[in-house]
Amino acid sequence: MAAEKFKNERSLIVIKPDGVQRSLIGEIIRRFERIGLKLSAIKMLVPRNEMIEKHYTVDPEWRRITGEKAIKGYKEKGQKPPSEDPYEITGLILERLKKYMSSGPVVAMVWQGAHAVKIVRKLVGGTEPFSSDVGTIRGDFVMDSYEMSDGDERCIRNLVHASGSIEDAEKEISLWFAKEEVIDYRLIPEQIFYDVNLDGLLE
Ligand code: ADP
Ligand code: MG
Repeated sequence: MAAEKFKNERSLIVIKPDGVQRSLIGEIIRRFERIGLKLSAIKMLVPRNEMIEKHYTVDPEWRRITGEKAIKGYKEKGQKPPSEDPYEITGLILERLKKYMSSGPVVAMVWQGAHAVKIVRKLVGGTEPFSSDVGTIRGDFVMDSYEMSDGDERCIRNLVHASGSIEDAEKEISLWFAKEEVIDYRLIPEQIFYDVNLDGLLE
């Protein structure tokens, strides 16, 4: 069955402290539920600095990629980046991320389903809310921009974290959840998404 290969994909989502404070927990969960993803783990916690650093560096390339993305962003706007070294920039971002992510409770979740990683990223939108698409979580519920966050020397507040790749997702899930906290169960509507034959619909 072709769907078999896709339906077990998982993504780690974290509703960041601003998402909790804005009372958007329900709204964010609703968007993942209504597309048909399955919630397989959920908890509320205040993450510690060590955990935040581990989380953002599960991908050994994150420091380079995020730094390069930031430098490109400055140049596209005709601005001078604070450094030409992507690692120096991510060092700064990481310090700001620790302050931001540990400022209050967050809600960590595992969502499972076909193409979960890419589907979730599509629903979440681009990193900077100011330029992320209308209809996405970041585009619909927050106005923050790099200009504002840089001006105040803080992290961009974009409500939610979502895994960037299948490999990152698996590493992040084992960082945030113990094995027994992730529940493997059948969600009845999965039949309509994944079963080859829709037998038994008619009496
Ligand atoms: P995403 O969360 O979209 O995957 P990244 O993995 O590149 O984005 O960065 C992780 C988080 O770090 C972002 O969600 C954001 O909160 C913060 N961040 C990233 N780049 C910047 C930046 N240039 N300025 C401020 N904060 C940033
Ligand atoms: Mg990322």
